[in-house]
Amino acid sequence: MRIPSPKGLLNSLDADSVYTEGADIADTKAPDVDIAKRWDERQFTAKLVNPANRRKLSVIIVGTGLAGASAAATLGEAGYQVTTFCYQDSPRRAHSIAAQGGINAAKNYRNDGDSVYRLFYDTVKGGDFRSRESNVYRLAQTSVQIIDQCVAQGVPFAREYGGLLDNRSFGGVQVSRTFYARGQTGQQLLIGAYQALERQIAAKTVTMNTRHEMLELIVVEGQARGIVVRDMVTGEIETHFADAVVLATGGYGNVFFLSTNAMGCNVTATWRAHRQGAYFANPCYTQIHPTCIPVSGEYQSKLTLMSESLRNDGRIWVPKSGEDKRAAPDIPESERDYYLERIYPAFGNLVPRDIASRAAKNVCDEGRGVGPGGLGVYLDFADAIQRLGRSSVEAKYGNLFDMYAQITGENPYETPMRIYPAVHYTMGGLWVDYDLQSSIPGLYVTGEANFSDHGANRLGASALMQGLADGYFVLPNTINDYLSSGPFPKVDASHPAAVEAVEAVRSRIEKFLSIQGTRTVDSFHKELGRIMWDYCGMERTEEGLRKAISQIRELKAEFWSDVKVLGTNEELNQALERAGRVADFFELGELMCIDALHRNESCGGHFRAESQTEDGEALRNDDEFAYVAAWEFGGDNGKPVLHKEPLVYQYVEMKQRSYK
Ligand SMILES: Cc1cc2nc3c(=O)[nH]c(=O)nc-3n(C[C@H](O)[C@H](O)[C@H](O)COP(=O)(O)OP(=O)(O)OC[C@H]3O[C@@H](n4cnc5c(N)ncnc54)[C@H](O)[C@@H]3O)c2cc1C
Repeated sequence: MRIPSPKGLLNSLDADSVYTEGADIADTKAPDVDIAKRWDERQFTAKLVNPANRRKLSVIIVGTGLAGASAAATLGEAGYQVTTFCYQDSPRRAHSIAAQGGINAAKNYRNDGDSVYRLFYDTVKGGDFRSRESNVYRLAQTSVQIIDQCVAQGVPFAREYGGLLDNRSFGGVQVSRTFYARGQTGQQLLIGAYQALERQIAAKTVTMNTRHEMLELIVVEGQARGIVVRDMVTGEIETHFADAVVLATGGYGNVFFLSTNAMGCNVTATWRAHRQGAYFANPCYTQIHPTCIPVSGEYQSKLTLMSESLRNDGRIWVPKSGEDKRAAPDIPESERDYYLERIYPAFGNLVPRDIASRAAKNVCDEGRGVGPGGLGVYLDFADAIQRLGRSSVEAKYGNLFDMYAQITGENPYETPMRIYPAVHYTMGGLWVDYDLQSSIPGLYVTGEANFSDHGANRLGASALMQGLADGYFVLPNTINDYLSSGPFPKVDASHPAAVEAVEAVRSRIEKFLSIQGTRTVDSFHKELGRIMWDYCGMERTEEGLRKAISQIRELKAEFWSDVKVLGTNEELNQALERAGRVADFFELGELMCIDALHRNESCGGHFRAESQTEDGEALRNDDEFAYVAAWEFGGDNGKPVLHKEPLVYQYVEMKQRSYK
């Protein structure tokens, strides 16, 4: 077991000793014109590549979830030579397939006052004024095109009786702008993107490599020029080269071990790029989703989301008294506390996720939680069933109800669901400019892998929107600006940068296999996850974060001396795959805690207990923290370097968020 931390170590971890500060940075790609014209202007000023020349230019895309598959299909169609990679046996197994509730777009089909500006405004406010205005405005503009594109591909969005596309509401907004395909929106969108990708594979503009894991980025003379991958079936280490590299590798919520993410989600691709010079932005911004099935035991390795769409009709409550142990249906209305409706009457059950999650934690901390351990609140459909009828509720949410019943053995049509917050999404990621280019020229990052447009809190149904905006529309119109200077000088496996990257991968693998310690990779991952959840989860304090940093360092040292990885490299070896991912989670986890420690304010999903309003809401400090924190890798024995990108608000006034 781990050795307890030596006395005195914690005190030596003051903020100054864990990081250093570098020069400020800025996004120089967004044109300095009216916000509504910026995207048009950028598309016009970005250099083009004529169709005949595109054939001579190559792009590597790592990741074929929604963000990667859409980008690969579009760049392939444009005529570039695209090579794609994913670690699953098919692009169709990307984590995107799990997305349930829907995708936002400012179509205003409901005629309920929606507009591009309102989607922009809601998203900036929802992100607690920690996102870039230019990017968010473009996201809102592009949302409209995404729906048309997907409908043209045949994505079966839900329709109203008259045939028009249906909409529902998600948290943090007062309009209905969420397009959906029952509780399987991600699956249907991914099938659309996958079909488009397959078409290009057949046309030979895209070469797909499944079951290949990127383990290193190759940077040649400051430009991203290739990757090192491991064939996960044979163990062969391969190099691939191109004129530009795109990472569309998803989020890193699994650093917490328990999350709603697919078991394979990891940070390795972006972390390896970070170590090569790409800045990592706002790593501590984590989304905790309020409606997940509560943890049921020690041996659980995965948590299940109950889609936010359920909050359209489900009402959240706990008993007024913590002493009340009656079954839910036996508790009379007058003795229930519909706390979201009470505290936030304007948005009720549809407050943003960070607010709903904290409110659930608060009522449970007061001893009013329900279910085993008191870590749960009710999500109740009795009213909706009475108002709409069981068949209507079933038509809207049937597959989610079935899933709940299968997992818990309870019938949610008869007794309220029990839910509790869980890690769901990571707003942090590699820093990118308006063109989606990282701080390494030629390295682009799309989808959940970049630090994105969501600030300190993402609103529901906006990750799919962002991934597809990036892949279908933004990247294909910005990467040409960079590629127009290519093709760049040819690089092959004999280049010293490639030799060094391959050597680094091989020696890491050999190290994992040679330790032959006593503990499994999973046992380390679980312990790391516990530290992250306890100290860098829903509520963070300076004391807790310092403790976490020191505990992570100790656990990491133990991992590198006592992990047991069986088998060999030359076979399918999941323990080996996981060892590499968990090793990177250790380094990321430490940076997340440093980021959370340095940001001595509360904003969105980052709740510092020391910084709250009198009624317990997140209290921002705009004077000191209105910036993106972009971290530069400081070396294995060095300290990360903080670069600040100041955030300027010209179109939305920064004010204390209120959903009351
Ligand atoms: C349960 C659940 C429900 C959700 N519901 C919604 C919703 O209703 N609406 C919404 O907007 N959002 C939703 N989200 C969020 C949304 O699904 C994700 O943010 C989004 O799908 C991420 O897409 P992506 O393309 O960026 O990444 P992913 O879909 O995670 O794809 C990552 C790709 O990268 C590849 N990859 C990763 N690392 C490597 C590597 N080292 N080498 C090779 N390949 C690699 C993988 O193989 C995969 O192809 C939900 C999330 C969850 C967990």
